[in-house]
Amino acid sequence: MERELVELKTRLQEISDLNSASAVLSWDQATYMPPGGAAARSRQMATLSQLSQEKFTDAAVGHLLDALEKQIDALPEDDAALVRATRRNYDRLVKVPPQLVAKITNHSAMAYQTWTQARPANDFAAVAPYLEKSVAYAQEVADCFPGYDHIADPLIDWSDYGMKAATVKALFADLRAQLVPLVEAVTAQESADTSCLHQFFPQDKQRAFGEKIIRQFGYDFDRGRQDLTHHPFATKFSIGDVRITTRFDEHNLGDGLFSTLHESGHAMYEQGVDPGYEGTPLDGGTSAGVHESQSRTWENLVGRSRAFWTHYYPELQATFPEQLNTVSLDTFYRAVNSVKRSLIRVDADQLTYDLHVMIRFDLELALLEGSLSIQDLPEAWHARYEADLGVHAPSDIDGVLQDVHWYGGLVGGAFQGYTLGNIMSAAFYDRALADHPTIPDEIGQGEFGTLHGWLKENIYQYGSRYTAPELIERVLGAPLTIDPYIAYLKSKFGELYAL
Ligand code: ZN
Repeated sequence: MERELVELKTRLQEISDLNSASAVLSWDQATYMPPGGAAARSRQMATLSQLSQEKFTDAAVGHLLDALEKQIDALPEDDAALVRATRRNYDRLVKVPPQLVAKITNHSAMAYQTWTQARPANDFAAVAPYLEKSVAYAQEVADCFPGYDHIADPLIDWSDYGMKAATVKALFADLRAQLVPLVEAVTAQESADTSCLHQFFPQDKQRAFGEKIIRQFGYDFDRGRQDLTHHPFATKFSIGDVRITTRFDEHNLGDGLFSTLHESGHAMYEQGVDPGYEGTPLDGGTSAGVHESQSRTWENLVGRSRAFWTHYYPELQATFPEQLNTVSLDTFYRAVNSVKRSLIRVDADQLTYDLHVMIRFDLELALLEGSLSIQDLPEAWHARYEADLGVHAPSDIDGVLQDVHWYGGLVGGAFQGYTLGNIMSAAFYDRALADHPTIPDEIGQGEFGTLHGWLKENIYQYGSRYTAPELIERVLGAPLTIDPYIAYLKSKFGELYAL
């Protein structure tokens, strides 16, 4: 068995090397590559991805997994987890027939291309036939994994393994029931004055300020760096090289600052994984939801808290004296936590964001179940936005055509992680506070070692050794509920808006 394990790990390391090389090319494409490099770069990345796929789907990998699974109970815990994670990834690649994959690849390119033109033209009719196919292909892919409880389950598994549609639906229904009235109560009050954030803030100073904070959070610049891009992201080439990217708007201080804090949370998770997992499927965050819980912890629970700004606001004022010296801490704190009913998910505030996500999740389920037709989708979208947020998009541009997710070839499984992440972030944070009640005071001193240490010990180090449901059970000692998240929102926004 030792021989099989060594051979499997050797193969996995090579696959990981190819994927990391691809990630470097992709990072470069999004940061420094001149426009002239575009065509060749796409080809180079496709070549690497094909090589990696060929290596992974090699029948020999399947035989190694078969052999190791027969004796999985005799394997050390880490190795058993490695075999299980590898099996999941392997099955995702081999269970969907190559002809179907080829059809979806072709379809994806056309669906996306059509969407890029249909959105500005407000032409839902143009993308409707593609969307219809995307739903049909998603159903076909799901059927390659028989035995599911809900047709969305296999699609959810790709990003949030083990989080069943039924579980997510129940959590979201609870959350929606609490959030809708809370948003109503908050938006009935006078909205916060956000003008202090919309002055001129030079980019170099914004950047230096953000980097100073994330260094203090514990993001390790000896094993990472930050560069500029259009759409911020975090990426990993190895546990020793986890990078983030950001963008700055010189007329919107919150944009670059909070996206830097957000991406540093994703990156610290990856930097904190046990180095012994390097080069295996265990060496990264375990699910989209858990990953998002880590970015949201640092962006929102820490970075939008009063304690945090009590410490950092004087430093921010010293950095931008002309802009902020006459703005009080209270005004600034309200501005970075302002709430308003809006149409666009990516611009939504902390309180309304999950409503946007849950609308999409529910519509996806209805499409996959066949209880909602593509033809009725735009109206269903408007109806939910009116019911949940009290707004009606003037056109489909800011309605059903808004997000790229549904126009990338398949429908399903792409949204739930955002809100699961918010729910988890509060549940984990509650646990950390129970273990270390001094954490909020430390944040008020600009000290983050206790929180960062707790996250490393309880979440980061395990990488993908535990699935999300297993990790939740380990950390919380119980399944996930919305209670800590709702308590947090009610306490924070209740105080801000004197509810
Ligand atoms: Zn994120």
